[in-house]
Parts: sequence; structure tokens; C-alpha cells
Amino acid sequence: MALMTGEQYIESLRKLKTKVYVFGERVENFVDHPIIRPSINSVAMTYDLAHDKEYEDLMTATSNLTGNKVNRFCHLHQSTEDLVKKVKMQRLLGQKTASCFQRCVGMDAFNAIWSTTYEVDKKYGTKYHERFRKYLEYVQENDLTVDGAMTDPKGDRSLSPSEQKDPDMYVHIVEKRADGIIVRGAKAHQTGSINSHDHLIMPTIAMKEADKAYAVSFAVPSDAEGVYMIYGRQSCDTRKLEKDADVDLGNKNFGGQEALVVFDDVFVPWDMVFLCEEYEFAGIMVERFAGYHRQSYGGCKVGVGDVLIGAAAVAADYNGVSKANHIKDKLIEMTHLNETLYCCGIACSAEGDKTEAGNYQIDMLLANVCKQNVTRFPYEITRLAEDIAGGLMVTMPSQADFRSSEIGEVCNKYFKGVDSVSTENRMRILRFIENMCLGSSAVGYRTESMHGAGSPQAQRIMIARQGNLQAKKDMAKKIAGIKE
Ligand code: SF4
Ligand code: FE
Repeated sequence: MALMTGEQYIESLRKLKTKVYVFGERVENFVDHPIIRPSINSVAMTYDLAHDKEYEDLMTATSNLTGNKVNRFCHLHQSTEDLVKKVKMQRLLGQKTASCFQRCVGMDAFNAIWSTTYEVDKKYGTKYHERFRKYLEYVQENDLTVDGAMTDPKGDRSLSPSEQKDPDMYVHIVEKRADGIIVRGAKAHQTGSINSHDHLIMPTIAMKEADKAYAVSFAVPSDAEGVYMIYGRQSCDTRKLEKDADVDLGNKNFGGQEALVVFDDVFVPWDMVFLCEEYEFAGIMVERFAGYHRQSYGGCKVGVGDVLIGAAAVAADYNGVSKANHIKDKLIEMTHLNETLYCCGIACSAEGDKTEAGNYQIDMLLANVCKQNVTRFPYEITRLAEDIAGGLMVTMPSQADFRSSEIGEVCNKYFKGVDSVSTENRMRILRFIENMCLGSSAVGYRTESMHGAGSPQAQRIMIARQGNLQAKKDMAKKIAGIKE
């Protein structure tokens, strides 16, 4: 099948019997739900841009499995150039949506599972890699969006999966049968899960033998029996339910999405199982997926940052302060921080290398440094955007007030900035900044920068492990003339 368009992708979601809950109620038509739809539009952009001649080189690749042209979101990276293009593609999509476009988790899972299953098979003579190859061919040929799912609810963080009072705190195998396995548990804050055709599950931490029932990786369709999702609410989400909602939304068309995905005794046939009790590979799979996703943030967050910097500059124009030196300097600082993140994304890609399975992996140390910076810089960029925007961003009346026959005129009069710009346009840019800094898009730009792809401490552990302090000590001793 050829590459889908955004419209075809949206129509393909309608054919699924995905079980979704929002605000305590089952939603039959999730595709047109006003709170969910913007996140579907963001994913649709990953399809539409693949048909745009201008972006073809970034958005598509030649599959090493079939030789066919595929969307890069379904591709196994074949070179460091592919890794670099991935980051550029993510920056582009951030620029086009100003939100999380969700499809990267699948791409990062494909690449992590591809190399890990190869190594499991080498050690145990299992058939996971061959199975995964067939699965990925199916994904590529059908141009699917897949929720690469890692994070379990985790319960008491001081206890391992097998030590939890409630065994369902981590996804686990409850039964092994001749035809497949039965799994139970849940994955929390799953990006794009409702909008995905499939879920591709991985373990979330390194495991010991006692945890082997939790060392499991598999794929299931989103509407498989026993799978359901509960939508994660976002700041200001009910604004989307307001009549004629437009200006107050800030970003009317695009958004991100997270949900709790529950696996209530779900059957998975063996040909969809990619890890089953080989516990010593759980940690490897986690590290690789996390590494790829930490690289990803050096692209997507930079693209969204580009839009936020632009929005702050527009707000400065509308407020009549763009010539002030401190405003210019704040925009320079925002740009400097944003491009530093991009440098990290490009660097960990350019320094990547080939795995035993043949696909390319990022430089782990640099990818973790990338994400560590992402836990900080977007906060500073948001702080500066709010500084430039001014307090009106959070104190101005609603769209309904501006459009009211009784008080609209007064609102338009007192909230006008420079004479050449309409009050509505000034409102629009301020609401847009509000949306990215503390509204629904802040989920993807701000707090996700902290916790997505692992919280800061997870990167520090990897930096400690990869930093090779001993080699640095040896360098110092040698030059200092120390002989011990
Ligand atoms: Fe992609 Fe970024 Fe969203 Fe992760 S946070 S899915 S990398 S857009
Ligand atoms: Fe993320």
C-alpha cells in the first residue's frame, strides 16, 4: 500500500473499534471529539508532509526490509545520515504543529526492538527478530501509527515489579499458552495511544530473574479485546468544548495527547511476542528506546521552540516594544537556548553507530545530555516568552467578551496595542503563548520536556555510566606528571 495521506489516516482510525473514555464516559466517536481531534490532526501532519515534494527527503526513506518508499516514522535508521534526518524531520513537524505529533514513540520503539531482538535470538536461539521483521514490514506497508509503550504505573517506586503489593503495577504475563500469552497491567501517560493503530509494548526498567514475568514485549491492535484507554486531561482542555471556540484555544487545530492504556487480560498470539521472560534484555531495550527518544527531543522541542520564539517576537511587535534592547536580547537568548538543544540532537545522531542487527543507534552519552538540557532550556524559553508577552496573556477577558454586543467595544478599545494591529490579533498571539506555556500545549512543550523520555535523574544515571570518569582522571594524572 502506498503512503497514506492525513485524510486517509483519519479515516483509517474510524474503522477501529477503539475503546476510549473521556471525563468518565465511553466515547463512541473519538475521531471527532473536540478534545481529542487536535491531537489526531498533529499525527495527520506526519502523513501529509510525506506527500509534499519539498519535504520528501526528510519525511520518507527507502525501507531496508522491502526496498519500498516508506514514511520515515516507520523506518529503521540505516546510517548516521538517517539519524540526522530524523531530528530534522521532528523539528519540521514541531514547526508545523507547535505541539507533540506523537508518532515518534513508534519509530523509536521499532529501532530499539529491532536491535534488541537480534541479540536475544543470538543468545537463546529464539525467533523474536524474525517475527518482529514481519511485523515491521506490515507496519511499513500499511503506513501505521504505532504507540511505542514503555512507562508502567510503577506503584511503589522502591519496589521491583515482582515485589509490588498489586502485581498489575507493571505489565506482565499471566498465562503462557500454546497459541500465545495473556497479559495484564497498564501503560501510563501514553503519547498518541488513542490515535494509534497498534500498541507496541516494552518493559520499563531493568529486571532480575524474579521479575521475568514482567520482561515482555509485544504488539496488539488498539482495538484488541481487553484493551481500553482513559484520556489524560490537559490544562484548559474544556475550552475546546465552548461554543465557537477559536481565539481562546491559542492553538485551535493541533495538540498532543496522553492516555492510560489498560490491558485487561489481553491475548497476544506468539507471532506478536518479541520478548518473553528474557529478563536480562529488559534493561537493554529500555536504554535503547529511551536513548532514541532523548535524541527525538533535540528535534521536536526545538521545532516547537521556534514557534514560541516567533510568537514572543510577534507579541513584542504588537505591544510596540520590539525595538527595546532588552527585548532583542531576550529573543537572542531564547534562540541560543533553542539552537543548543538542536546541536545536541544533531550531535548524538552524527556520532551514532551501527548495531549488530544493522540499524543505527545514537551516541548514548550525547543523547542523554540532549534530554538533560531539554529538562531545563524550554523552561527558560517559556519564562522569557511570558516576560515578553506581558501579564495580559493570563488576565484578558474571553473571546465571548470581545465579541459581545454590550461590552465588546470596550474590550477592543482597552486591549489594543499598536494602532496598526487589531485587538483580536493581539489576543490571538497572547492566547497562543498562553497555550504553549501553560495551556494544553504546555503538556508537550513544558512538563513533557521534564518527564517525557525519562525524568532528569534517569539521564544523570546514564551520563554517570557513559561519562568514563576514569579515562578523564587518567588524562589529568598523565599531564600533571603523577605516577602512582
Ligand atoms: Fe515525538 Fe516529541 Fe511527541 Fe516524543 S514528545 S512523540 S519526540 S513530538
Ligand atoms: Fe514524548
